[in-house]
Amino acid sequence: MTTMMIPSIPRKGMIMSKKIPMRQCVGCGEMKAKKEMLRVIKTAEEEILLDTTGKKNGRGAYICPNPECLQKAARNRGLERSLKTAVPKDILDTLMKEMENR
Ligand SMILES: [Zn+2]
Repeated sequence: MTTMMIPSIPRKGMIMSKKIPMRQCVGCGEMKAKKEMLRVIKTAEEEILLDTTGKKNGRGAYICPNPECLQKAARNRGLERSLKTAVPKDILDTLMKEMENR
């Protein structure tokens, strides 16, 4: 006689649908869904880019698509701290434009 083993799926109490990747905004510090945020990356060549595809390689910093967050990030140097390098002003301008277009 063999005992039927029913594979048990661990349940953690709550009904979790898909796990949404969350990232912290460098401006307001809130955790939000990664796909809702803008990503700024530093490439291996130390280049700072706005990554609109979310697929580029590099060290990333995330920010809400909200001009207020951009202002906060500019004030508290959140982007610089996250990317560990100076962020050129034109990147901030590009981000601002991106936010206005949303
Ligand atoms: Zn934010």
